Amino acid sequence: MQTIRITNGRVIDPAQGIDQVTDVWIQGETILGLGPQPTAQADHVIDASGKIVCPGLIDMHVHLREPGREEDETIATGTAAALAGGVTSVACMPNTEPALDSQAAAEFVYLQADRAGNANVFPVGAITKGRQGQELAEIGGLVEGGAVAFTDDGSPVVSAEIMRRALEYCRMFNKAVLSHAEDLELTRDGVMHEGFESMRLGLRGMPAAAEEVMVHRDITLAELTGGRLHILHVSTAGSVELIRQARRRGINVSGEATPHHFTLTDKCLRGFDSNYKMAPPLRSDQDVQAVIAGLKDGTLEVIATDHAPHAPEKKMRELDQAPNGIIGLETLLPICVMSLIEPGHLTWPQLIEKLTVNPARVLGIDRGTLNPGAKADVTIIDPKTEWTIEPNSFRSKSRNCPFAGWKVRGRAHTVLVNGKVKY
Ligand SMILES: [Zn+2]
Ligand SMILES: [Zn+2]
Repeated sequence: MQTIRITNGRVIDPAQGIDQVTDVWIQGETILGLGPQPTAQADHVIDASGKIVCPGLIDMHVHLREPGREEDETIATGTAAALAGGVTSVACMPNTEPALDSQAAAEFVYLQADRAGNANVFPVGAITKGRQGQELAEIGGLVEGGAVAFTDDGSPVVSAEIMRRALEYCRMFNKAVLSHAEDLELTRDGVMHEGFESMRLGLRGMPAAAEEVMVHRDITLAELTGGRLHILHVSTAGSVELIRQARRRGINVSGEATPHHFTLTDKCLRGFDSNYKMAPPLRSDQDVQAVIAGLKDGTLEVIATDHAPHAPEKKMRELDQAPNGIIGLETLLPICVMSLIEPGHLTWPQLIEKLTVNPARVLGIDRGTLNPGAKADVTIIDPKTEWTIEPNSFRSKSRNCPFAGWKVRGRAHTVLVNGKVKY
């Protein structure tokens, strides 16, 4: 069995409350321990001087597009992009074609991820058959196939009755329901956030209320059922406040923020560039501040990218025809550094907590820590290195990135998955 010693790095493991310069020892596929290991002999030494050594990052909101839309991304290219971004585990959303709504579909994801041999992939099952919103999917079979959570992401669950039953059913398996909170009647034909900017540009808006009424509904249903609810891509001040109050009342709800929602605003749409079109849309400056405040006070426990690849010809269409979403895996770290670390909103341990142990807990997966015996997923971050974001050099198949040309700091240096150097 191969033994690796990662030495001289600032080891940050929020799961254990560790933040100190020490060694990380890996034996085979697992973490042997931190600090001196008198009986161990290293076959390989990785010098991490000046770098941060942390549990492999987990991105619990990724669209890998396979099967069905391999022109946008595949499990192999998406997981290669993950590694380049320092991400060792992704949870992939079920809005593939066909939808990930059966045990066989979940097993297919594990098989393809294994073949690719990049990052770990944890499939998220559909709540309803075909994501049609009519009938519950085979939740038990999906759990059997390894689905770690449930969502119809890409779409909301329109029926409150079906959402109630999903929360009840998933509760029996101790799985979280991930809510894409959007009232489709309020967002119909919308291309951006409804507000001063949409009025100025003459574009149809999607009001903050379209998100908030669904966040409110799903929190109410979580309270009714005792189910475990996670709100995806929280983008409005009102949603942050609803989640904050619900958590104070002891309701089992967690929330997630994306880098674009705490970095960009609806002003970006002034150039009519579809790389700023997503659902939920980029909001006002006040909403951005509220999302950051939610991250700071712990209301929003998770940061995830909502990596949503679309082939260039699709995003080139007119704004109202272009699909929603942007890629995010390869820009996750530097955008968090720029928007959260450098302004002093979060410390490194706080940031890493939202990218490791917290998403691992929501998904119920045994990752996100450097505990002895844990799977040896490790990300070594160079927090100071400066670089320019160039989507053409990305490993993702798609290029729909709103940060092209940005000069940024912070990047994954070395990435290990199950004890093997993969990047
Ligand atoms: Zn969504
Ligand atoms: Zn999504």
